[in-house]
Amino acid sequence: METVCCVCFKKKKGDKWINGTPRPDHTISHGFCPDCFELVISRVETVAASRSTSDPIAA
Ligand SMILES: [Zn+2]
Repeated sequence: METVCCVCFKKKKGDKWINGTPRPDHTISHGFCPDCFELVISRVETVAASRSTSDPIAA
């Protein structure tokens, strides 16, 4: 099974992430490479912060 980053489409190879096209004959598991994981987490935190300040009642 291959793990492919669903943001930048890098493939996980051992403990490294490499650029490449996923092979359709393989079972693909979508995930996040460390770089995109950091990006997603920071975005989620930004959205959560802006929501709580602009709409305090919803929080
Ligand atoms: Zn990525």
